[in-house]
Amino acid sequence: MASDLIVARPEGLYCPPGDFYIDPWRPVARAVITHAHSDHARFGHEHYLCAEPGRGVLLARLPGITLDTLPYGQRISHHGVTLSLHPAGHVLGSAQVRLEHGGQVWVASGDYKVEDDGTCEPFEPVRCDTFITESTFGLPIYRWQDQPTLMAEIFRWWQSNAAAGRASVLYCYAFGKAQRILHGMLRHAGADLAMPGPIIVHGAMTGLNRAYAEAGVALAPTMTVADLPARSPALHRALVVAPPSAQRSTWLRRFGAEAIDAFASGWMQLRGTRRRRGVDRGFALSDHADWPGLLQAIGATGAQRVIVTHGNVPVMVRYLAEQGLDAQSFKTEFGDVDDVQDSGGDGAAPAEAEAEAPR
Ligand SMILES: [Zn+2]
Ligand SMILES: [Zn+2]
Repeated sequence: MASDLIVARPEGLYCPPGDFYIDPWRPVARAVITHAHSDHARFGHEHYLCAEPGRGVLLARLPGITLDTLPYGQRISHHGVTLSLHPAGHVLGSAQVRLEHGGQVWVASGDYKVEDDGTCEPFEPVRCDTFITESTFGLPIYRWQDQPTLMAEIFRWWQSNAAAGRASVLYCYAFGKAQRILHGMLRHAGADLAMPGPIIVHGAMTGLNRAYAEAGVALAPTMTVADLPARSPALHRALVVAPPSAQRSTWLRRFGAEAIDAFASGWMQLRGTRRRRGVDRGFALSDHADWPGLLQAIGATGAQRVIVTHGNVPVMVRYLAEQGLDAQSFKTEFGDVDDVQDSGGDGAAPAEAEAEAPR
């Protein structure tokens, strides 16, 4: 419709009256960024706007950009469009973009999760006429266990491996997932910080961990391998948090051939994924809403019109249409880099699952 507040253009999602883009994938003059994952935040735009808590992680990913930030909930006006950013609960600084113009309210949610994970502002339902949603895990088979239960499982897995003198190598995405695990281990250990061994993080994670710590997020104490002598027995009790790209790397050898490994990702809910990744254990931990979470979030907006951007698009569009909503889709270039399905090595990598986090 001519009055639509957001339309799909070859460069990205565009607001015609405001003349700016949301998470554009080609270079533009003005980009509003929902969050710093690499498929939503790219180099090359002249001017960036993101939520204030996302400043540190966005600059860690895209150093040198021209960036303005906005506190959650604060309204600004641009070419007569009222814009505000609201927590999306996905990763630190993640935001839904609320636009109001000509009596209409639109919300573009970026990626989101409805469960509060303690490492970012929890998802805030925002009333709107039109809601733009992701659908990464938009199939009824996706139902997450709650975070405390998952963290307790990871902790117990680490404990039993350590008792057997074997390191626990946990692969996860370096931005978002890694910090949730560090926060979860801290919470689970309780006040006396009784851990089965040291937590060793891969170098790809230290910059982002610092950005989270500077934003006031409580993380378990960590070290890098350089902090321990080469033959330290502590290496065999360690929880090793590493990006998937470290799998089968020489970096891992120092933890011994008998190390146990696991993968943390929403895709681990599918049994075949764990086997394809060649790991001993899978934990279905995701930064995205599961099927009930997506439906809960969509319902809470009160929107009569819903536009689906990425993930299981046809399934979600059909389901929402059956519920009587005006449902459609936008073709976008957003992928699932944050819940890496397969990042190479076994030839099963989907095209959008690009490289791991920042160097
Ligand atoms: Zn994301
Ligand atoms: Zn996404």
